[in-house]
Amino acid sequence: MAQKNIVVVGAGVIGISSALLLRKAGHAVTIIARDFPAPFETIDPINQINYTSPWGGAHNRWVPPSPAQPHTALEHPLSLSTYSHMKKLHSLHPQTAGITFLPGIEYLESPPPEYLSLSSPTDPVARSLASLCGFRVLPPSSHPDAKVKWACEYETYCVNPMVYLTFLLRRFFHQGGKIVRQELRSISEVFALRPAEDLLLGQPSSSSSSQCARIDAVVNASGTNFGQDPDVFVTRGQTVLVAEECDATVTRQNSDGSWTFSVPRGFEGGTVIGGTKEVGNWDVKPDPKVREELLKKFGETYPKIFKEGGKKELTVLRDIVGRRPTRKGGPRIEGEVLDAQGGGGGGGGGFVMHAYGLGGRGYELSWGVAEKVVEGVEKYFQGQEEEAKAKL
Ligand SMILES: Cc1cc2nc3c(=O)[nH]c(=O)nc-3n(C[C@H](O)[C@H](O)[C@H](O)COP(=O)(O)OP(=O)(O)OC[C@H]3O[C@@H](n4cnc5c(N)ncnc54)[C@H](O)[C@@H]3O)c2cc1C
Repeated sequence: MAQKNIVVVGAGVIGISSALLLRKAGHAVTIIARDFPAPFETIDPINQINYTSPWGGAHNRWVPPSPAQPHTALEHPLSLSTYSHMKKLHSLHPQTAGITFLPGIEYLESPPPEYLSLSSPTDPVARSLASLCGFRVLPPSSHPDAKVKWACEYETYCVNPMVYLTFLLRRFFHQGGKIVRQELRSISEVFALRPAEDLLLGQPSSSSSSQCARIDAVVNASGTNFGQDPDVFVTRGQTVLVAEECDATVTRQNSDGSWTFSVPRGFEGGTVIGGTKEVGNWDVKPDPKVREELLKKFGETYPKIFKEGGKKELTVLRDIVGRRPTRKGGPRIEGEVLDAQGGGGGGGGGFVMHAYGLGGRGYELSWGVAEKVVEGVEKYFQGQEEEAKAKL
């Protein structure tokens, strides 16, 4: 396929992963975004709260497909593909990619049926995970207390979000990708931006050029689709970063619906202790009472985090508040042709591949989503070529 000019809107984990794979597929790719990865310590907790990627843990935790939530069946293969990509990246760049492989432990007080099925040796999901990452159900003797009714352990990964994303962005740049910082009003605005030549790699700006550069496709990795999708909502997460490095990523689902977890960030990034999942809560301020509760509950579930005997307090570095870009029915990963009015959003028309609404799973689904983006964009180009041939 001939090289195409593609603009990716968004420099979170979804935008950067997609941009890298599109570049690898041979296209001229430009990332446009308001926010870019930077050292975590410099990301502003209020001005940049809508840039979710810095505030994520981020660990991989398997979510078995559930009939009650049909999108989980579509997401599972994306998480498997992401796992393999992370494994490869980690083995090639163990010191720089910001990825750590370590034990993942899960404790559930009220396990739903799709978790209980994983206890069966013939369950297909459990079997594939057993060979991929040593997944095994833990015996009751290893539960932390009697409230826990089901537990498992497997080898998984955590990323230090800003170390990981700056690593990916640097690779994108080294591989010839272009980066533009700009705030947009809508996805269709890309088609109407300043001379397209300025944005594109494939056709450098030239006043003598008689032919105008064209944007062949836009990827919408804006997290929330500019507030223009009624199915998108925020799920607030409050966590706390401590200096101690936990030796595992531990997740406990409590029967009252609350969560207790640790996500060691590695690369001297401490450990995130979490966390809340508050649908529709836009509050930017951390609640000190929530912080105390999160630390207490985690210490009770996993006292191994107190490495020195007798120590019962963790070293708090800072509170974290983030907004998971959640979408009713799961993420939107599909193509759409906008008309010249930008599908009603103004701006301009053209092909848009949507990849937003990843909720609390952006990292663990990222490479699977990026593969779908490449697939969707190339399918569109192929259709265009076939249409053009048919007209000859
Ligand atoms: C507390 C917490 C814990 C989490 N833990 C995990 C975890 O353990 N594992 C996991 O997989 N996920 C986790 N997540 C979820 C994960 O962080 C998100 O799913 C992921 O970061 C979403 O990435 P994104 O690229 O879609 O969006 P974002 O990171 O929000 O990126 C959006 C991009 O679009 C750009 N953009 C948006 N609007 C505009 C505009 N108007 N003009 C120009 N650019 C624009 C932004 O500048 C940014 O570059 C967690 C999230 C939170 C809050």
